[in-house]
Amino acid sequence: MRVPPGASIETLCIHAGQEPDPASGAVMLPIVLSSTFAQDGPGVHKGFDYSRAGNPTRAALEACLATLEGAQHGIAFGSGCAALTAVLLTLRSGDHVLVGDDVYGGTFRIFDQVVAQFGIESSFVDMSDPVRAFEAMRPNTRLVWIETPSNPLLKVLDIETLAAGARARGVPVAVDNTFATPMLQRPLDLGASIVVHSTTKYLNGHSDVVGGAVLTNDRALAERLHFVQKAAGSVPSPFDCYLVLRGLKTLAVRMKRHVETARGIAEWLATHPRVAHVHYPGLPGHVGHAIAARQMKGPGGMITFEIEGALAQAVTFLRALRIVACAESLGGVESLAEHPATMTHASLPPKARQALGIRDGLIRLSVGLEDAGDLRGDLERGFRAAFEQTHV
Ligand SMILES: *Cc1c(COP(=O)(O)O)cnc(C)c1O
Repeated sequence: MRVPPGASIETLCIHAGQEPDPASGAVMLPIVLSSTFAQDGPGVHKGFDYSRAGNPTRAALEACLATLEGAQHGIAFGSGCAALTAVLLTLRSGDHVLVGDDVYGGTFRIFDQVVAQFGIESSFVDMSDPVRAFEAMRPNTRLVWIETPSNPLLKVLDIETLAAGARARGVPVAVDNTFATPMLQRPLDLGASIVVHSTTKYLNGHSDVVGGAVLTNDRALAERLHFVQKAAGSVPSPFDCYLVLRGLKTLAVRMKRHVETARGIAEWLATHPRVAHVHYPGLPGHVGHAIAARQMKGPGGMITFEIEGALAQAVTFLRALRIVACAESLGGVESLAEHPATMTHASLPPKARQALGIRDGLIRLSVGLEDAGDLRGDLERGFRAAFEQTHV
């Protein structure tokens, strides 16, 4: 890499894994769409033979993401779900995984309905108390899987303590770092062995790609993941890799602004008469505030809040917004709001939803890069609509 050692992460977002094209001097990396590569003779090539196995644009993205997470190895996939499935495909039938009880719904589904069929067992436990969580460890536990901050309640887990406890038992910890991004939290520095991302969210940041990646310093694991990537084939297209690389160039400035605006809105919501509760790690009253302050560089751009009333008010609120779109997903330049109980977390059984505290008045907000005053005005429009209607 041309970037000198010791460059800050803000610089690496723009340059890591990328150099001017030696053939033309082009400053922006060419997008190599080719599915295959000419060889000087059978097996004699410049590192690429077929794009499922390897592609220059994808290699640049993998190098960039690895650098940002402080990892030696990066392996990119066609979605966040494909990335986490690839990690599970390195396990064997009979292995057991300890999983946080409030992981992303799609993650839960892969454990519960996909890999379970092949004899990979999982237990879902509250990881906020590591001592109690590790009581669920078994002799065949091969992996601990966590997500922090979690979705939708933004619970914060102590990565360092969990990683140290798992390491003492010889078990690696995988952290889904999608909500924090390496700008705010670097799990490998805190002792985790594996970082997983849905690049669909903040890393790409423009809501126009579905993608994922795994980053690790474990060479043997990286080799197996490269094998799964090639053998199972859920690879991202070169064009999508280019879009994520392009998005990454502004990651540092975007995250700074996401955090700044989200903090202001969270504080405003916390004093709003129609808001029953605000979940935001940056607020002193949040359960994970102290851990977040220690392990994160900022509390992130996601806010979940509970409005008074319940389903009808939440629906009216969301329908009245004009800047904030009612949509799933997060981490884009545009603000998005959604209703976890009927949208992202609808597939959870109602009892499980209740147990996790996902109530009907809950709204999850992905704070975008719009003007903070405009966003507050839009949310106020939602509150007025939800609470001015006459009750019948
Ligand atoms: C979206 C998301 C995923 C899944 O990623 P896709 O790119 O949608 O497959 C996994 N984990 C978290 C935390 C997510 O937000």
